[in-house]
Amino acid sequence: MKIAIIGVGSVGSAVATAVQNTGLAHEIVLFDRDGVRARAAAEDLGHAGAFSYDIKITAASSYRVIRGSDIVIIAAGANQKPGETRTDLLHKNASVIEDIVPRVMANVDAKKVKIIVVTNPLDVMVMLAQKLSKLPASRVIGTGTMLDSARLKVILSRQLGVSTRSINAYVLGEHGDSSVVNWEAISIGGIALDDFCKQTKISLPQTKRKTIEHRVRGAAYEIIRGRGATWDGIGAAVADLLHAIVNDEKRILTTSVVDGVGKSAVAMSMPRIVGENGVIMNLHTKLSKTESADLRKSSKIIRKNFDLI
Ligand code: NAD
Repeated sequence: MKIAIIGVGSVGSAVATAVQNTGLAHEIVLFDRDGVRARAAAEDLGHAGAFSYDIKITAASSYRVIRGSDIVIIAAGANQKPGETRTDLLHKNASVIEDIVPRVMANVDAKKVKIIVVTNPLDVMVMLAQKLSKLPASRVIGTGTMLDSARLKVILSRQLGVSTRSINAYVLGEHGDSSVVNWEAISIGGIALDDFCKQTKISLPQTKRKTIEHRVRGAAYEIIRGRGATWDGIGAAVADLLHAIVNDEKRILTTSVVDGVGKSAVAMSMPRIVGENGVIMNLHTKLSKTESADLRKSSKIIRKNFDLI
């Protein structure tokens, strides 16, 4: 498995480390428009390999070096500065994707390659990457709200006193300020959330739920205020997605892929079955009326932003 990572800043580096630690790749190629940075990252990661897996790690000086890649991960582009929203990055990062995707496609096998998009604003960048690559939507996969869903699970785990692994909880829609917490479908060990709260005598009233939603949506802002950027969570999310693809796990993950055609096409996160062919199936969860309306709003925001570029 040859994996190329385009963009080796905070996120690309964390992704590279997480990918290396999966042991799933026999070769990792790092490309950044800052070649010195890419070479330094490859050197550092190569040293880390002595403690984990012997993987060929190369810094690419040109896109030719990514030839033969099975999966290309795009983590390049501007990140949010304190106070900035993901949408503020729209035009800057659209140019980055427009620069990268044609070069990637000129050097990979379009019949088999999968592209994982990490760059923000995530959903719009997925739409753009899919349009430019002309790959089937199922093989241009955004990490979407995988990270938001993880953040929700961690908060719930602390509130409810159960492991994140016993919690099925999804954040849907935009990976951004209009994301939607799908309370209606949350289950704990197969028990509906309300029933679980009754059995355990834990109170989770609307006010508390609103605070949780706020914390999930605000998590990136908080981290950026504290350490300038976020990287560990997204590194782990990409590694998780990679496991699902490479091992054909057919796991349900809230990824973002283009759904629909023409003017109604939009990429946003829904639970999707992911395996070796990328996204195999889009699923629909039980939504409350409010969640349904919020999801429609989220979809319109993404489409509107895509139409702006
Ligand atoms: P960073 O500034 O640390 O690194 C960005 C890197 O991209 C730099 O090394 C830069 O040289 C490189 N780059 C820029 N344009 C390029 C081009 N055209 N070709 C090749 N390389 C190019 O930023 P970061 O913190 O690593 O964030 C990267 C992206 O990831 C941002 O858009 C950020 O918002 C996003 N992000 C997404 C998630 C998610 O959940 N999807 C989470 C965190 C960050």
